This record gives sequence, C-alpha cells and structure tokens, in this order.
Amino acid sequence: MQGQNPVFIPGPTNIPDRLRYAMSVQTVDHRAPDFVDLLTPLHADLKKVFKTETGEVVTFPASGTGGWEAAITNTLSPGDKVLVARYGMFSHRWIDLCQRHGLDVEIIERPWGEGAPAELFHDRLAADRDRAIKAVLVTHNETATGVKSDVAAVRRAMDAAGHPALLYVDGVSSIASMDFRMDEWGVDLAVTGSQKGFMLATGMAIVGVSQKALEAMLSARLHRTYFDFRDMLTANARGGYPYTPPLQIMYGLRESLKMLFEEGLDNVFARHRRIAEGVRAAVRGWGLQLCAVRPELYSDTVSAVFTPAGFDSNRLTDHAYSAYDVSFGVGLGEMAGRAFRIGHLGAMTDVMALSGLATIEMAMKDLGYPIELGAGVAAAQDYYRSTKAIPQKEAA
Ligand SMILES: *Cc1c(COP(=O)(O)O)cnc(C)c1O
Repeated sequence: MQGQNPVFIPGPTNIPDRLRYAMSVQTVDHRAPDFVDLLTPLHADLKKVFKTETGEVVTFPASGTGGWEAAITNTLSPGDKVLVARYGMFSHRWIDLCQRHGLDVEIIERPWGEGAPAELFHDRLAADRDRAIKAVLVTHNETATGVKSDVAAVRRAMDAAGHPALLYVDGVSSIASMDFRMDEWGVDLAVTGSQKGFMLATGMAIVGVSQKALEAMLSARLHRTYFDFRDMLTANARGGYPYTPPLQIMYGLRESLKMLFEEGLDNVFARHRRIAEGVRAAVRGWGLQLCAVRPELYSDTVSAVFTPAGFDSNRLTDHAYSAYDVSFGVGLGEMAGRAFRIGHLGAMTDVMALSGLATIEMAMKDLGYPIELGAGVAAAQDYYRSTKAIPQKEAA
C-alpha cells in the first residue's frame, strides 16, 4: 500500500489533494450557533446535484449501504411488497437488505450484464390490480457488472401502468458522475455515498427524499432510530444534526460541490463518458468482452471485463496489486474469477486512465494472456487524441 498510484476500484475513489486538504480541519462544535452556515448550504447544493427542487436531501454518517437502510426503513412497513430485479451484486445486496427487514420481495431475475427491465416492471405493475406493490427498486449503475439502467424508462413504465408505488434508486456509483434527474424521473428515494462521485472519504450516506416519500414516512412502520428521517429533518430545520455529524466529510463536501459546479455537472458527465469510451476502446483492443451486453447499458463509471476462458480474474487483480501496486476491482458474485473491473469515476483524467490501462495490460502480459502489449493502450490513446482539440500536424 504505497499510496502514490491512483486506484481503479469503483469506490472508494481517488481523493484529489484539494479535498484531502479540505477535510483536514480541527474539530468545530456542531452545537455552535454557526454550524448552520456549514450545514444548510450543503443540503441546498446537494439538491442541485440530485436535480431536485421539490424534494429534500438528508445525510447520515454511514456508507451507501446505510443510505439504502434509511430509504427502506423510513418509508415501508413489515410485509410490504417490493418489486426489484436482480442483475448484479449490488441489486442482490439491496434485495437481501429488504428481506432482512421483513419485506415481501418480488424478484425478477435477470442475466448479469442486463439492466433494470422496464417492460417486465410494467407488466408486473399493470397486473397488480389491488396495488399491493409499495416500492420499485432500481440500481441505476450496477457496479458489479458495469451496467447503467434507464431510470426514466422505469418511471415511464410505472406511469403507463398507472401504479402509485414509490421509486427507489441506488445511485451510489452514478450520482455526481453520470446524468441523474430526481424530479424529472420521478425518483422518490435516491441514495448515494461520499466516497464515489463526490471523491471524498467514506462516511456519509446521502439520500434524496421526494414529497411523496415524506408522506409515506408518516405511516411507515419499519423500525428506525439512528436513520430516522424525522429526527434528522427536525434537527436540520433547526440548523443542526441529531447526533455527531461527520464533520470532516462535511468540509470536504463543501469543497467537492464547489469543484463539481466549477467544472459544471454536464462537463463532469461528459468527462466520465469520454474516459469510459477510451477504456472501452482498450477492452476492444485487447479482444476482450465487457459484462454489459449492449452499448446502451455501458456504464461511464466502471467497466467490468471478462477474462479469457481459463484465466482467473482474481489472480490478475492480485498480480496487478502485488507487482505494480495498482488496485482494480475484483469480480463480485457471479463474476468472481471471471471478470475484473476498472473503476473510472470521480477524480479521474484521461491520463490517469491510460496509466491504469497500461498497468493492467502489463499484468495480463505477465500472466500469459493472449494480448499484445500496447494494444489496449494504443486504442485508448487514439480515442483520447481524436476527441481532444489537438494542433494540426506540422509540415514535414
Ligand atoms: C458502492 C456501492 C454501494 C454501497 O456501498 P457502501 O460500501 O456501503 O458505500 C451500493 N450500491 C452501489 C451500486 C455501489 O456501487
């Protein structure tokens, strides 16, 4: 763990110096009257990132998983029916969380590499005549397979079925890196964490809550104490927190939001897209396959890449780490041993991406993969050159 090289895991992500410095602060008193000056603008700016004007944003000291738990326990009751598709490790873990809370989870199994099935959701919701389904859960960006789902299409499917269920979206590896529109897509609960698109240390779960979700909160009966929206909203309204806030992360978040707005959210998304396209060009250059089965599913924050038959992806990521001190994502769940992941979200540039591609290429060559050294890197270089304003060739 030498710590000089960037990481290529899809979270926690690389922390830019600017944010490391911003988080390096002495303790301040969160019960002091001016704590509100830190807290309130954070929530206002988070709403801009979530693209909600009508909803609220609450934060908790937790990782993203805590955000899932907060979203679920504040708005649902034991035995409530929940509709969800399983297409990767994160959608699987969200299902597990719901089941452990005693919800009645109806699961649509999808091949890993596919995304949320809007049409299947529509058919199931249309058939739910007595409106037993209370929630539809979507993992926007399935980090295990590098698959982005079409949340707007799920909303259209719910509306076409005329179904009143709440829409829950795991945006942990998409929000602040990929296009996300809470109000426009009619998302009722949107979850993320500080350590992915926001480029910060782990420790803050961020949850967008619609007015409809706030209404559901009033009658929801699942137990919650630490994650109770009511305590949090009451305290926030008074400019405070119901318990000790993750202060250093809040200072970091203030700076992170500044960085995102300075670059411009659309430019942030375009940068992620461009970097991801270069990574995908490299994957083609190696002659390897992405787990995501169709281009419209390709994630701009993480690429999951199948290793050739007979090559163990865990050995590859182990070797990249031990030989070159660079971390890549391991294959999770069904992808264990079969795929490795390149995280390319947060504080990432084309030049950083090239270093990761060059490194995994060396690691593959060391282990006897049937690839040409440079094949992936050159493909990415070509893509990055062709999409950057470059001067005309000088006359020979
Ligand atoms: C990282 C991640 C999570 C949450 O993980 P934590 O480790 O609890 O922050 C949830 N969903 C997705 C899609 C993720 O990428």
